[in-house]
Amino acid sequence: MSDTRLREFLPFHRPYMGEEEINEVIDTLRSGWLTMGPKTARLEEKFAASLGAGHAVAVNSCTAALHLALECLGVGPGDEVITSPYTFSATAAAIMYCGAKPVFADTEADYPNIDPAAVQRAITERTKAIIPVHFAGGPCDMDALMELGASCGAAVIEDAAHALPSRYKGRRIGTIGPATCFSLYAGKNITTGEGGMIATDSAELADQLRIRRLHGISRDAWKRYTAEGSWYYEVSERGFKYNMTDINAAIGLHQLDRLEAFHTRRVEIVALYDALLADTPGVLCPRPSSYGESSWHLYVVRIDGGAVSVDRNSVIEMMKQDNIGTSVHFIPLHLHSFYQERLGVTENDFPNSRSLYEAAISLPLFPTMSNDDVRAVVASLGRIMAENRR
Ligand SMILES: *Cc1c(COP(=O)(O)O)cnc(C)c1O
Repeated sequence: MSDTRLREFLPFHRPYMGEEEINEVIDTLRSGWLTMGPKTARLEEKFAASLGAGHAVAVNSCTAALHLALECLGVGPGDEVITSPYTFSATAAAIMYCGAKPVFADTEADYPNIDPAAVQRAITERTKAIIPVHFAGGPCDMDALMELGASCGAAVIEDAAHALPSRYKGRRIGTIGPATCFSLYAGKNITTGEGGMIATDSAELADQLRIRRLHGISRDAWKRYTAEGSWYYEVSERGFKYNMTDINAAIGLHQLDRLEAFHTRRVEIVALYDALLADTPGVLCPRPSSYGESSWHLYVVRIDGGAVSVDRNSVIEMMKQDNIGTSVHFIPLHLHSFYQERLGVTENDFPNSRSLYEAAISLPLFPTMSNDDVRAVVASLGRIMAENRR
């Protein structure tokens, strides 16, 4: 047993639930209104206000948010949507739900966000949308991407699953592109258990999103036929079952209140990791985005194969022996059999994404981690590096 082993397991992530969330859920259960209702509406208002966005539309996941945004912007069969291969499968899956084709554009060589130059090379006359992913919350080069979108008539829909709260050149992510998709999954910076949000400044788009998230039933159609009575409804669009429930929204109301405090603590933990890992040979700390402030959803270090003789997989295994949970974000999409078979991509196609992935380890990072927890992670990693120096 190593001398850096923790007595109790430190997970990679642990969601925080306070008494306020618990009581609000109980209140919802007692209220008799379980599905989408007043609490979802309150969460939408609060979310939009906290971003400074015109509207926020609640759905049951970020995957649904991405699909619905593409759907409402008219993406369909025969269209191409450019995105990063260095993302979770949901980003590309949402494109395929529309019958459209994901087209990957590689990341920058030394930063895990999509490279605008690669996006430019991927544009064709079929390009209908671009989905940048703000990896770990570090903002993408939005000016360049918005300009590329405008140049070919493609909408820029951001996958901001990690980017709450991130800022691009001082502006909150969620107030830049026409539709920005957030995740409220249990593993994200704040959670509703499962959930997602689409932020937009367009009242017209918000209306369409609201209609299509719940069976395509138009509220205006209801109004037109009030003479028919309250039982009447009209399906005016192709709809989906993507609504949030008030049980989930109840959690979100209090999680949103905690966002700033969570963020402050994340930034502290990141600063501590940076300071303690600064002189650990073999470990490369994540550098900040050149374009703004990160939400620090993840703290992804890279193992420098030039300095140590252990690979990433062995380091993960040794840290597990030390009772420390880690993760890997992400296995690039062009390494998965499904995308290879369906899109004809191969493992050699996007070398930047692949080499970033091969060295990456996501260290534990969540607001209730103590400074001693951070020191324990660094001690374990430091010992492993010291024992395996070249
Ligand atoms: C988590 C995640 C998603 C999907 O979010 P869900 O709310 O679970 O659907 C999409 N994109 C990225 C980059 C993610 O990390």
